[in-house]
Amino acid sequence: MNFLFANFRDQVLRIHVESDQHIELLQALEKEQDWELDFWLHPVSSELPVDIHVPYASLNAVKDYLKDNNIPFSVMINNLQEMLDEEQAEMEKNNGRERNLRSFNFGAYHKLETIYSWMDTLVADYPNVVSKEQIGLSYENRPMYVLKFSTGGTKRPAIWIDAGIHSREWVSQASAVWIANKIASDYNNDPTVTNLLNAMDIYLMIITNPDGYVYSHTNDRMWRKTRSSNPGSLCRGTDPNRNWDSGFGGPGTSKNPCSDSYHGPHAHSEVEVQNVVNLIKTHGNFKSFISIHAYSQLLMYPYGYSCKNAPHQAELDSVGRAAVNALSSLYGTSYKVGSICNIIYQASGGSIDWSYDFGIKYSFAFELRDTGRYGFVLPASQIIPTASETWLALKHLMMYTHEHPY
Ligand SMILES: [Zn+2]
Repeated sequence: MNFLFANFRDQVLRIHVESDQHIELLQALEKEQDWELDFWLHPVSSELPVDIHVPYASLNAVKDYLKDNNIPFSVMINNLQEMLDEEQAEMEKNNGRERNLRSFNFGAYHKLETIYSWMDTLVADYPNVVSKEQIGLSYENRPMYVLKFSTGGTKRPAIWIDAGIHSREWVSQASAVWIANKIASDYNNDPTVTNLLNAMDIYLMIITNPDGYVYSHTNDRMWRKTRSSNPGSLCRGTDPNRNWDSGFGGPGTSKNPCSDSYHGPHAHSEVEVQNVVNLIKTHGNFKSFISIHAYSQLLMYPYGYSCKNAPHQAELDSVGRAAVNALSSLYGTSYKVGSICNIIYQASGGSIDWSYDFGIKYSFAFELRDTGRYGFVLPASQIIPTASETWLALKHLMMYTHEHPY
């Protein structure tokens, strides 16, 4: 047996939580750093499953721990490396095809530079409706680009959409690419989009965490955070969705730089977050703020840092439900709707809590497909279906914002 190969046979276990005691036992497991566990879904409530990516070397220990404590689990991904190899092979095959055909395949995952150069193609194809703006540099000095869809005017009321703030959530960036093309090509073709863009601007940031995205291609497919260095620690990166000035450092964050939910040294310490904050504040006329994540099939609204109802809870809930109805109408994909705290768990320092408290009422976050069969390694064949259904929900949120000025 090839020892090196065996080392890579990590698994993803799904834990079927039955009691609060199970949650406590799993939270203890989460603190067990020696096993190097990567929680895809955290233990927070007995209503929700817990998914753990377990390194091969820790598999027996973790399974024994679960069995000893009578915690039921199943193996959701039997061989993670095999799935990653398939994903890589498909990307390479697609690269060759795209080179030969000189075309861009929306149903494929792409590297950062490919997406960046595709943005220029989009701008060249639709110069009257879309432009590319650089809002700053990432920690590792990569440009951060936002696509601005506008048909004129100055500082029209605007909608913000960002994807990929967590780098490993690849279907988020890939869907945003499809959606960018959809917005540009629907102008003057779809009356809804035309009406919207005649009155409002849309800002779409496809790769909000460029350093993390590159790292997820070159070194660690499961990388979630930024790549900033942490003084006094060998571990890199801050969770950029725990870094906003909204209940900073509160529940659902970690002060350990090695944790995947490390909140960073202070609010807005991550330049990627700061760049977005600067744009939103300078612009001053955003009416909706939408963040796109994966996975779990959820549409959420504030708050995450608190479990109290947001002042516009009832309205946000009904808008969210209507958006999800539109989404489900395409393929029947089912989504849950609720506040971050009530639907997943209390999580502080998130972007949509910040935007909401900043005064942007229509603040939402998506968790796209799936519910765990593939988790972060969603097959590329699902990119276009995911983007297409998500687009229907986005269109509803944007139209509602347009029709309900404040
Ligand atoms: Zn995320």
